[in-house]
Amino acid sequence: MDFAFVSGNPALDLAGTVGSRRDNPVDLLATPADLERWVTECDELPDDVTADDATFEAALSVREALYRLALDRVLGRSFDPGSLALVNHTAAGPVPVMTLGDAGVELSGDLRAALTHVARSGITLLADRDACLKECGRAGCTRIYVDRSRGARRTWCGMDECGNRVKAAAYRARRRAASA
Ligand SMILES: [Zn+2]
Repeated sequence: MDFAFVSGNPALDLAGTVGSRRDNPVDLLATPADLERWVTECDELPDDVTADDATFEAALSVREALYRLALDRVLGRSFDPGSLALVNHTAAGPVPVMTLGDAGVELSGDLRAALTHVARSGITLLADRDACLKECGRAGCTRIYVDRSRGARRTWCGMDECGNRVKAAAYRARRRAASA
C-alpha cells in the first residue's frame, strides 16, 4: 500500500500510517524497511536513513504518542501526560542538518534526527491554537489533518484517499435507490 502525505504535517502523516484505528487498524509500518521508505517518501525528511530494530520500535512509540496528542487536541481535552513526555523527549534529540539550495531546503541526518524533526514539527502544530485539526469525515478513516482551507470547510483527509470514495459510494447508493 502507498503512503499518503495529505495531513499537512509530517507528525500527522506519521500518525496516519495506521489506518482505520477504531474499527480495524491497518499498520503500514510493519517492518523497519517500511519506516525507511516512509522517511524517504516524506518530503520534509532526510533520504536514505536506516532503521534498526531499536529505532523502529522508538519510532512506533513516538507515532502513537503523536496520534494520542493530536486526538486530544481534536477532542479538546488535556494532553495525555505520558504521550507528552515521550514527544518532548524525542524533540530534544539531535536535529537534521538543514541546507538551502536553489531547489529549496534539504535535510540530512539519520533516523533519530528525522524523528526529532517530526516530533518538533508536531509540537509546533499542536501548540498553535489557530491551527484547525480535524478527523477525516469518512467513517472509519480516523486520519487527522490540518484544515488550512478558507473558512475551514475541508471534510476529507484527501480527495484520492477518502473524498472520492465517499462520493462514489453515494453515487452508487443513489443509482441503487433509483433502480429499485
Ligand atoms: Zn480520510
